[in-house]
Amino acid sequence: MFKSLRVRASQGSQFIVDLRKAVPNGHRGLPTISTAPCPEGCHACVDACPTEAIAIEPVRLDLGKCVFCSECVHECPEGKFAFTSNPHLSARTREGLIVTEGPEGGPDPIATDAALKKLYGRSLRMRQVSAGGCNGCELELNAALNVNFDLARYGIEWVASPRHADALVLSGPLTRNMAEAVRLAWDAMPDPRFVIAAGACAISGGLYAQAEALDRGFLRDVGPVVYVAGCPPHPLGFVNAILQLLGIAPSAG
Ligand code: SF4
Ligand code: SF4
Repeated sequence: MFKSLRVRASQGSQFIVDLRKAVPNGHRGLPTISTAPCPEGCHACVDACPTEAIAIEPVRLDLGKCVFCSECVHECPEGKFAFTSNPHLSARTREGLIVTEGPEGGPDPIATDAALKKLYGRSLRMRQVSAGGCNGCELELNAALNVNFDLARYGIEWVASPRHADALVLSGPLTRNMAEAVRLAWDAMPDPRFVIAAGACAISGGLYAQAEALDRGFLRDVGPVVYVAGCPPHPLGFVNAILQLLGIAPSAG
């Protein structure tokens, strides 16, 4: 018993008290784009990007497509791109994920949805479906309920069956093989229900956007209420998107 107490004392408190203020060390998070002028005719960043996430004149970056490879950082002769460790990479709309030049160029902050807060502010059950994901997003989503992030302290938990779920959390690019399974999961969920798109693959197709084996029709029919960018998203990005959406206070509660 004393050994257990010693271990517990040496570990200290493992849960993150204020999830909104936590910043992960060494994480490649929110990119910034400086206002430095581009050399005439330069499109090195566009050429380097594997997912067509960058557009120029003016330079802007789509977080919903970015896989955080940092090739744009290395290729830009003017050093316009840099990555911070800020894990907050979510928005309510696709357009809200566009990063523009300057210090205020980040994604649109997520406003609390009064209707969703009323329904789920004290209890939310989520069903995760990996629709062709590489398991990166799935691992990080799973971590949202571990002892560090402990989303369950707010009454938010994963469930094994869509029949018990309020929210469908989609990861992966939505492969043709998974198209029916995604629709079956959605059809099994009781109303009211909503969709969260997690990761570049789910949001835009990511690296697989041009693949023939995708069927993204479900997301065209049922639009997500929130997009959580990243490849994969950091658990802090995911948990904060939900806390902000539902207007849940950041303290340990
Ligand atoms: S970090 Fe993102 S925007 Fe930059 S090259 Fe890679 S995928 Fe493209
Ligand atoms: S977004 Fe990245 S981590 Fe997530 S499933 Fe796609 S490739 Fe994997």
